[in-house]
Amino acid sequence: RLEIRNLRRFFDGRPVVDDVSLKVQKGQVTCLLGPSGCGKSTTLRMIAGVEMQDSGQIYVDGKLICDTVFRVPPERREIGLMFQDFALFPHLSVADNVAFGLKGSRAEKRARVEELLTRVSLARHIDSFPHELSGGEQQRVALARAIAPRPKIMLMDEPFSGLDNRLRDGIRDETLSLLKEEEAAVVLVTHEPEEAMRMGDEIALMRGGKIVQQGAPYNVYTRPIDKAAVAFFSDVN
Ligand code: ATP
Ligand code: MG
Repeated sequence: RLEIRNLRRFFDGRPVVDDVSLKVQKGQVTCLLGPSGCGKSTTLRMIAGVEMQDSGQIYVDGKLICDTVFRVPPERREIGLMFQDFALFPHLSVADNVAFGLKGSRAEKRARVEELLTRVSLARHIDSFPHELSGGEQQRVALARAIAPRPKIMLMDEPFSGLDNRLRDGIRDETLSLLKEEEAAVVLVTHEPEEAMRMGDEIALMRGGKIVQQGAPYNVYTRPIDKAAVAFFSDVN
C-alpha cells in the first residue's frame, strides 16, 4: 500500500507539484491523468526516489520511506518501474533481462523468469535478444522484468504510448491482469482519458501541479468538476 502526503516540488521558484496526496491500496490501479506539463512524471519520480520533494512524505505499508530529512534509496524501495523509454538491456537475452535484479539461487531465478514469460506469452522467446522482438513484445518483456522482483509498488509512466493502436488494447489488458495477480499497488501516468478509464480503479485528475478531482473513473467522467475537466475529457475522444 502506497500513501503520499502533501508532496511539493518547486522548479525555479514555481510549484510543479503542489500539495499532492494519494493513497493506493494493494491490487489497485490509480491513474494520474492530466495534460502535458501538469506534474505527473515529477510526482512519479519522487515516489521512485530519483527526485527529491521539497516537502511532504511517502509511506509504503505504513512505513515512512521518504520525507525531507529521511530517505530510503531508490533501489531499496521495492518499487517496479515501467516507462515509455525504459529500454531493455540490448546485450542481454530476454531471460537475463527479466532475471536482472532478482535475488535467490539460479534455479529460483530461472523458475520466476519462466513463470513470467509464460504469463506474458513469450516463453518461446526466452533466449531471444531484444532487437529480435517487436515493440509490443519488448514492452511485455519490460513488464515481466518490472514485476519479477515482486515489487509492492509499480510505477508506470505512459508505458504504452510508443505502441500502435492495434497492439495497445491487448497489452493494456494483459498488463492489468498481471498487475492484479501480483497484487501490486499501481500508479499509472497517462494523458489519455480513455486509458485511465480502461485501466484505473481510481482516477486522479491533475492540473497545474494539483489533483483537482479524484474518484472512480465513472464518477470522474460523468461528473467532471469544472469546464476545464469537461474539455479535457472531450478533447481526446
Ligand atoms: P508530460 O505529459 O508532457 O510528460 P508531465 O505531466 O509528466 O508532462 P512533468 O514532466 O512532471 O510533466 O513536468 C512538470 C513541469 O515541471 C513542467 O513544466 C516541466 O517543464 C517542469 N520540470 C520538470 N522537470 C524539471 C527540471 N528538472 N527542471 C526544471 N523544470 C522542470
Ligand atoms: Mg511526463
